[in-house]
Amino acid sequence: MVQKLPNREEVKVEETWNLAHLFETEEDFTNSLESIEKEVQQFVTKYKGKVNNATIIVEALTDYSALYEKIVPAGTYASLSLSTDQTNTTAQMRANKYGSLYAKISSELSFLTSELLEQPDKIITEATKLAPTFQLYLDKLLEKKKYQLHPEVEKTLAAYSASFNAPYKLYNTTKMQDISFENFEVDGKSYPLSYVSFENDWEAESDPAIRRAAFESFSKKLKEYQHTTATTYDMHVQMEKTTADLRGYDSIFDYLLFNQEVDRSLYNRQIDLIMSELAPHMRKYAKLLQKVHGLEKMTFADLKISLDPTYEPSISIEESKKYIDDALAIMGEEYLEMVDRAYKERWIDFAQNTGKSTGAFCSSPYGNHPYILISWSSRMNEVFVLAHELGHAGHFYHANKEQTIFNARPSLYFIEAPSTMNEMLVANHLLANSDDPKFKRWVISSIVARTYYHNFVTHLLEAAYQRKVYERVNQGLNVNAQILNEYKRSVLEEFWGDAVEISDGAELTWMRQPHYYMGLYPYTYSAGLTISTQVAKRILNEGQVAVDEWTEVLKAGGTKSPVDLAKMAGVDITTDEPLRDTIAYIGSLIDELISLTEEIEQ
Ligand SMILES: [Zn+2]
Repeated sequence: MVQKLPNREEVKVEETWNLAHLFETEEDFTNSLESIEKEVQQFVTKYKGKVNNATIIVEALTDYSALYEKIVPAGTYASLSLSTDQTNTTAQMRANKYGSLYAKISSELSFLTSELLEQPDKIITEATKLAPTFQLYLDKLLEKKKYQLHPEVEKTLAAYSASFNAPYKLYNTTKMQDISFENFEVDGKSYPLSYVSFENDWEAESDPAIRRAAFESFSKKLKEYQHTTATTYDMHVQMEKTTADLRGYDSIFDYLLFNQEVDRSLYNRQIDLIMSELAPHMRKYAKLLQKVHGLEKMTFADLKISLDPTYEPSISIEESKKYIDDALAIMGEEYLEMVDRAYKERWIDFAQNTGKSTGAFCSSPYGNHPYILISWSSRMNEVFVLAHELGHAGHFYHANKEQTIFNARPSLYFIEAPSTMNEMLVANHLLANSDDPKFKRWVISSIVARTYYHNFVTHLLEAAYQRKVYERVNQGLNVNAQILNEYKRSVLEEFWGDAVEISDGAELTWMRQPHYYMGLYPYTYSAGLTISTQVAKRILNEGQVAVDEWTEVLKAGGTKSPVDLAKMAGVDITTDEPLRDTIAYIGSLIDELISLTEEIEQ
């Protein structure tokens, strides 16, 4: 049963993360901001107008890295302390203060890029010979040369960076502070509703009357804010369009994909193939849910129910550790040591409280340990969520250790591979250790209903919708709530066909995701999971060799493109073979669910 969530002050300390590892006290944080500001001034005095030979370039980049290693923990502290309670005004002010400072220093430091790009290639080559660790950074910078604007323009744009972030902030303000859900009623009984309780509980509620009433009430409230949210979003995409135009990119897609180091064919392939080839499998899955639950019709509001609601093992935080350890043991001792530390040293924020960011994420500040945010609901499913976030943690735990601050982060295209990899490892481990058809069905349905649904359906349908939005914006047009609703509805209808009735309110789903403020992010979930599905298969079949190669990929961080990283792990993503094979694999899992269900019902 959904309880009203406690306030942040009321949660148990041991269920919260320890941000003191970043800054012991508020004073330390404030002092750090002051010293960053001072060092930036010194940096400007020392280098501005003087970046004109190889030795100075190397010196400047060395100081610049050191400076960034100080900026990262401050930014992480500001944003993490806000994420556990977005209603906390002190945390809001702290994040704003950091945002303003960051804009100011970005502007002051922008001369470095401008001056570097004015150098003849010969001098840059000389600098990379002197200090090969900066080669990658400089190579990437040079690729951007043709999109670089006049130094004064760059400086001005950087000074506005906090303002450019405004739409995302406004989105969160509307979502987390202004929208307040009233209780909903079914048969004279009243139930509490919030963003978190809807997405964590009510959506999966097994009583259809309560589930659909929650959906209706949730959608009704979202609708009241659709115009504000749509205008906020339009502001964001228009800004991206203007940036793409000013910098001279061929299209908004080329601008947004530039940093991902992949071309448009890899982007379009994920969306096109999944929309057409995965859809028949997922419709089959929806029909199975409908049959098992004896529903007269299957609606959008029913898609998150589990195949067997009577079989949902509940699990405590302590118990989760054992499952995680056993499942990830295959990754080796160093990996398990990290998991151990994550629990013991409070890297993880488990608590459920009002104002906390929805969903789960992992933040991996360079030079420190990763932090994980999750709202622990005691459902066994959370083991998969936690394994996922520990996958991000394990990735950057390795990459941050092996690479410099500028080389640690790979393309967004690859980001979700290590995380979804861990979900596959949990599933494989659980499957290997049980013959009970009910448990097996629960495990497979967890991978289908969670891992694949989340990455190949939820996020992919977001991506398909987002592509429509950007196609429109690319033509110089705007969007509003009505257009966004139409786009969202049409994508849902196309994918689910006549297997699922797209309930009233489903078209508002675009209001729920913060991803739309992060460029072409949604499609990368399925790209990452395509790679991890293939590697997980290799680990099952080939064992240690595949594990070792995967560990090397994690360590490589951002030193290679997604295509090359996948190649290191034995997967060739230049062809559509891995994706087709993954879709077929999902199909086979759904067939297995159908046959296990028949076996159980006999
Ligand atoms: Zn993730």
